[in-house]
Amino acid sequence: MGPRVRFAPSPTGYFHVGSARTSLVNWLYARAHGGTFVLRIEDTDVERNREEWKEGIVRALAWLDLDVDEGPFLQSALADDHRAAAEALWDGGYLYACDCTREEIDARTADRATPGYDGHCRERGLARSERTALRFRVPDEGATVIRDIIRGEIAFPHASYEDFVVVKPSGAALYPLANLVDDRQMGITHVIRGEDLLPTTPKQVLMWEALNTCSGTVVALPTYAHLPMLVNEQRKKLSKRRDPVAVESYRDQGYLPEALINYLALLGWSPPSGEELIDRATLLATFRLEDVSHSPAFFDVKKLTHLNGVYLRQLDPADFVERARPWVAPWSSAWRPETAPPYREDEFDETLFARVAPLVKERVTTLGEVPGLVAFLFTEPVPDEAAFDSVIGADPLATVLLAAARERLAEIDFDAPTLHAAVLELGEALGWKLRQAQAPLRVAVTGTRVGLPLFESLELLGRERVLARLDAALARA
Ligand code: GLU
Repeated sequence: MGPRVRFAPSPTGYFHVGSARTSLVNWLYARAHGGTFVLRIEDTDVERNREEWKEGIVRALAWLDLDVDEGPFLQSALADDHRAAAEALWDGGYLYACDCTREEIDARTADRATPGYDGHCRERGLARSERTALRFRVPDEGATVIRDIIRGEIAFPHASYEDFVVVKPSGAALYPLANLVDDRQMGITHVIRGEDLLPTTPKQVLMWEALNTCSGTVVALPTYAHLPMLVNEQRKKLSKRRDPVAVESYRDQGYLPEALINYLALLGWSPPSGEELIDRATLLATFRLEDVSHSPAFFDVKKLTHLNGVYLRQLDPADFVERARPWVAPWSSAWRPETAPPYREDEFDETLFARVAPLVKERVTTLGEVPGLVAFLFTEPVPDEAAFDSVIGADPLATVLLAAARERLAEIDFDAPTLHAAVLELGEALGWKLRQAQAPLRVAVTGTRVGLPLFESLELLGRERVLARLDAALARA
């Protein structure tokens, strides 16, 4: 039987790139070892959960093409199991009732070097009531040793752990217990998760071993792997407030899921070949948890964007057209991003877009950039004031060039090489280099100073529309 791994997100916010990385690594582990990938949504914190965030998890996994073998299970549906485990721990003498308030604990421990619970109720033998929490009796001596695939053996001395709360006065099990009970029930063999949960692990190991003793069921401890934290450029932990972390915002901007997957795999891991452009099959064949580093990994949006550009350039043009559809022609797409293109449905020309696509895909890093780049083909451009004034208005020779081009372009064949040769010659007559000669034409015809290759753009637009735009520019100059 292969390993059983789980991805266990809490639906307390938008699906985060850190969660995407954790789910990817779990998925890879399951797929590379003939195992099972379980999705369990840890929705026990009812105040912070939202339905849309649960849906967001399932949607993001589908978008990333990380298929789940079992689940989604909802942790909230398993509350009876959590309660039964707490009962077993209570009956086994691992827990004790505590009625201390936060204020009382703070007042008693204010002067102590080690903060945390002081064991006040440990030997009081209080009965359980709706006013008591249940705390786990952490052994005074010794240490809990965790074997972590990434970090090796780590010893957590018990002296640094307080008697932690397992069950709230309301009777609800807290997350560390609920989480491990579910892992036991679901036969999870490998717990692969973020480093932020490392301090919780010894508590869970203590409870796991206690349950082995008192519940009548011995279950082998899972193997752990705590993935390095993701940090921003300032080496600070990625934050939902400060950093662009929502997976859906990357989808909306037009990042390809395969590029994001490739990038996420590189966080804390390098392919043995050194080649960072790595497809899923190669990733499956070469990714090893043992090789993941334990230092924090810099989530570099620039690098991700660069990689996305590489993936876009690799698409074949027909595929590119399809992948760009939600941005370019949202009305004919089942899913669409929030921003609409700068032209209307009746102005859009699918055939023309397919013709220009090979030029476009070489020049964008996200699909969100595509509509702006092709808009001049579908709608009459209004040259932006600044571009018009500085390129055409400020230079009388620019108007001379436009007027000459208006004449010449009415006569010659309208294909890119002929247009190129003609503009080169018109420029030379003014003592200009090609680049200089292209500038006023580009502003007049496309409305902007930068964009797709000019002569191909002219050819795609066709003589009639180009001449009309030159006339409009000349009238304005
Ligand atoms: N639900 C926990 C969280 O999202 C993760 C639990 C785990 O992977 O063990 O932080």
